[in-house]
Amino acid sequence: METKLQIDITKTSKSKLQETDFDNLVFGKTISDHMFVADFKKGEWTDFRIEPYAPLSLNPANATLHYGQSVFEGMKAYKNDEGDILLFRADANQKRLNESAVRMCIPEVPEELFMEGLMQLLDLDRDWIPNKPGYSLYIRPFIFATDDYLGIRPSENYKFMIFTCPVGHYYSKPVTVKVEQKYTRAAEGGTGAAKAAGNYAGSLYPALLAQKEGYDQLIWTDGKTHQNIEESGTMNLMFMINNTLITAPTNKGTILKGITRDSVLKLAKEMGYPVEERFLTVQELEKALIENSIQEAFGTGTAATIAHIAKIHLNGVDYELSSKSPDSFSIQVLETLDKIKYGKVEDNRGWIIKL
Ligand SMILES: *Cc1c(COP(=O)(O)O)cnc(C)c1O
Repeated sequence: METKLQIDITKTSKSKLQETDFDNLVFGKTISDHMFVADFKKGEWTDFRIEPYAPLSLNPANATLHYGQSVFEGMKAYKNDEGDILLFRADANQKRLNESAVRMCIPEVPEELFMEGLMQLLDLDRDWIPNKPGYSLYIRPFIFATDDYLGIRPSENYKFMIFTCPVGHYYSKPVTVKVEQKYTRAAEGGTGAAKAAGNYAGSLYPALLAQKEGYDQLIWTDGKTHQNIEESGTMNLMFMINNTLITAPTNKGTILKGITRDSVLKLAKEMGYPVEERFLTVQELEKALIENSIQEAFGTGTAATIAHIAKIHLNGVDYELSSKSPDSFSIQVLETLDKIKYGKVEDNRGWIIKL
């Protein structure tokens, strides 16, 4: 690989590879040997390095701890049968990280720094990418403030880091969801479109209440009227009604622009399905649930790709959705995406980077 940036590499003297049980991976628990680090100081990104994964030392006055100036990404790398590493739509994650950063007053990471840091990290830890069917390497890039100062202003210093986690076959069992009409995840003008740490912190409590009632996740509604279906907080939501695929639009700034969402919409169009990017109203959803006219309801996100919805709770009623037949759209699109990601079909959309 041609190296354009100077990245200092310190290899671990004690790899955890041998002691890792690849048959029992828990999402996000097993972390590969190395991490990429860059520092932002005096107005520029410097000190690019790959080091053994290790704890950081933080000052108690660290700005992120108090004011939450922090953004992240989530993406995956796969191995094909030849052992090549295939990265899925990493350019889209790089762009989205910077869009999130701008909203949170965090300096953007140049494309070359992101890609070169990522490539060299993956190359060094390539043995951590499982080559079993359905397995992959989850990649977590993130940027956070590191000023040691309690004043309220954008930090002057930041860290950009990437670490990775091998993950097992993530088959999501069908999920049960509750339509949330009291609490709010995102408001127009807020930070809902940014992959920002604080959005998650604010979602935990309402999600916990729903879990106590027996639901896996929430369906968020808009913060103003609670009459429009938005997304699920870690996944975008899609509904197939009258053979038309419906999903919330991203132009209000309250929906995270999921890369899985975008990929599924593009494939749906290629497969000839009409696609509507518009808000499904709670009323419309309720009517469709009563009439049993929802053919499919599912979430889309990097972790599971597609998570089918088995039950929706709305206005005090639990509605069961019928199970999917193998020729349903969501099952077909999942298969297509898997084939693309694992290199089983030719990538003619420019979605795969091979290294
Ligand atoms: C990350 C995320 C998604 C899914 O995005 P993908 O790029 O498909 O993984 C959906 N909603 C929220 C709030 C997210 O943070």
